[in-house]
Amino acid sequence: MQDSLAINSDYKRSLLDSLELFKGVRPDDVQELLQKCSRRDLSEGDLLLSPNAKNEYIFIVLSGRLNVHVGAVDAPVLASIDIGACVGEMSIIEDCDPSAYVIAAETTHLLEIHQSVLWNMVDASHELAKNLLVVLSERVRSHNRVIANGYGVLRKFERHAVTDALTDLGNRHAMRDTFPQEIARCLERKDPVSLMMIDIDNFKQFNDLFGHIAGDRALSAVAKILRVQFRPHDLLVRYGGDEFAVLLPATNKEQALVIGDRIRQVVSGDTKDSKDSLIQISVKISMGVAELAPQGTLDALIRQADAALYRAKHAGRDIVSD
Ligand code: GH3
Ligand code: MG
Repeated sequence: MQDSLAINSDYKRSLLDSLELFKGVRPDDVQELLQKCSRRDLSEGDLLLSPNAKNEYIFIVLSGRLNVHVGAVDAPVLASIDIGACVGEMSIIEDCDPSAYVIAAETTHLLEIHQSVLWNMVDASHELAKNLLVVLSERVRSHNRVIANGYGVLRKFERHAVTDALTDLGNRHAMRDTFPQEIARCLERKDPVSLMMIDIDNFKQFNDLFGHIAGDRALSAVAKILRVQFRPHDLLVRYGGDEFAVLLPATNKEQALVIGDRIRQVVSGDTKDSKDSLIQISVKISMGVAELAPQGTLDALIRQADAALYRAKHAGRDIVSD
């Protein structure tokens, strides 16, 4: 009889030890309270917790598995709650609605503990109180991880919104953010500022001759050359299609024309010597240059540089014009 009692108590202890909330808890301390708990059985897909429903229980997974989804029931699985782990504790502690959807990933059996019973258990067992603290601190840590990941994703989206994927240069949105600031700085310092519009010559023909993939490679090769050739404080963006825009601070039109002509020649020479077998000919560019007029605006500057580019194209291409 003594032996069977000992086995029984060892069995209970090892059973409790396998549950994160009851690890190390003496069965005698919680036995009566455990009898006030019930079992909850879920089928695959059953919703256990939802942000719209108040929760008064902590649940311990006895068999099966639960999935946690944030934002919507069909959102990707954020975490899984496996055998021995518990869920629902945050809404009990904070006395607020659950922060996520918790759904049975398969047939799942749960031990359901009402919050009043849980607090009685905390009173009855220091070990259980400690376990609850550990569970809660892990939850806070994982919430922080989710928030940190969220910020990372947000930053990535923000970066993508202003970055052109093919060339990794800023796009037109980036230009709307950065060019006016730089123009304002130049005006404040009474520095001249020039804008250069750059467009690849006969690029449609390049695509037709060598294919669109080769066209993409040529475009990013030109972007790379431009990035290296312009000074670090010049602002270079892909304006769209085969067109780039560069804002040159502290640069007047005459200086911009000289810089532009040098870079035009570098683009033509470097693409001709490209190691990329897809770029089979020299890629040439035309440029239009304009200097900001007193009281001028970015839009007016773009119009002037565009008109200059148009003149360069009409004068035969592979030219820098003002
Ligand atoms: P022009 O000398 O007058 O500039 O002639 P163009 O053929 O370059 O004409 P335009 O600048 O008007 O046309 C740009 C062409 O660039 C259209 C399209 O075929 C090509 N293009 C634009 N964006 C891309 C791109 O991302 N990849 C590739 N491969 N081609 C592009
Ligand atoms: Mg073109």
